[in-house]
Amino acid sequence: MRHKVIKFFRDFLDKEGFAEIETPMLTKSTPEGSRDFIVPSRLQPGKFYALPQSPQQYKQLLMASGLEKYFQIARCFRDEDSRGDRQFEHTQLDLEMSFHTQLDLEMSFVEREDVLDLTERMFIKMIEVLFPNKKIQDIPFPRIPYKEAKEKYNSDKPDLRKDKNNTDVLSFCWIIDFPFFQKTEDGGWTFEHNPFSAQRPEFIQDVLNKKNIGKIVANQYDLVLNGMELASGGIRSHDPKVLEKVFEIMGYKKEEIWEKFGHMLTAFQFGTPPHGGIAPGIDRIVTILQNEPNIREVIAFPKTGDGRDFMMQAPSEVDKKQLKELHISITKETKKK
Ligand code: ASP
Repeated sequence: MRHKVIKFFRDFLDKEGFAEIETPMLTKSTPEGSRDFIVPSRLQPGKFYALPQSPQQYKQLLMASGLEKYFQIARCFRDEDSRGDRQFEHTQLDLEMSFHTQLDLEMSFVEREDVLDLTERMFIKMIEVLFPNKKIQDIPFPRIPYKEAKEKYNSDKPDLRKDKNNTDVLSFCWIIDFPFFQKTEDGGWTFEHNPFSAQRPEFIQDVLNKKNIGKIVANQYDLVLNGMELASGGIRSHDPKVLEKVFEIMGYKKEEIWEKFGHMLTAFQFGTPPHGGIAPGIDRIVTILQNEPNIREVIAFPKTGDGRDFMMQAPSEVDKKQLKELHISITKETKKK
């Protein structure tokens, strides 16, 4: 079924004019809110690649380069504690599209509409074709602003099914209008979802003036299915001035911003079209549709709860020679742990 779901998405997006493009696995750290897996470089002693937490920056750079519709069945790596719906590596249907519009107040809703509409049509059709016994509770999918979801359901991933045990009913909903920034423990600011999201146009001035930071609303959306977050996405910030301010608000110094994100800021100076996308999680989709309790049931060779590949016995120690080539030494204290 996983094969069929992926094939359905590929064929659907192909018909909609999307091109499937693979982006690198050995890359630079992307700030997606998780810890990176890093890979030592043999040829550049002391330097490291990061495995992508998602292809976020690459897909936006593809939009900057003039590609209009991209997708990829993308493996994403996040070094965070495993749970029933989480593994170190997961697969996303990553997609992004650009828009031939003037970004004004009205148009930014048109753009969001394009992404939500495409995603909704794709899911409805996939379920109709592959899971005809399942019933989608509400079409179109209800849209609930984040604030309302928190007030009404005390959750940003509410399960709207009348009978929560009925696995044949699928209750999709969109959560929209997430706050852009979140307070950090030490009183600074970080992004709530994705630093590359755009703000709703009426808040751009506040970003530029660094005002009312806690009230700034992002043009960011989540797709929720039966109480599980299935996808996250957003219309992106394509104005380098605004993006630079976002990083300033998060406490980065100018040199740091250019060192870390210079490639994005430079690309955006060439006139990047407005663009946006989404990335539904394949493991979670198949888990819910197959009525499985855990994403491990739909992943070939999954890891254990503490992140080990039990069959291969990974992670494992490596030869001294390999470590030497990589300019890495392991201290005694590390070994003992
Ligand atoms: N890169 C985002 C994520 O992995 C998805 C997106 O905004 O398209 O959650």
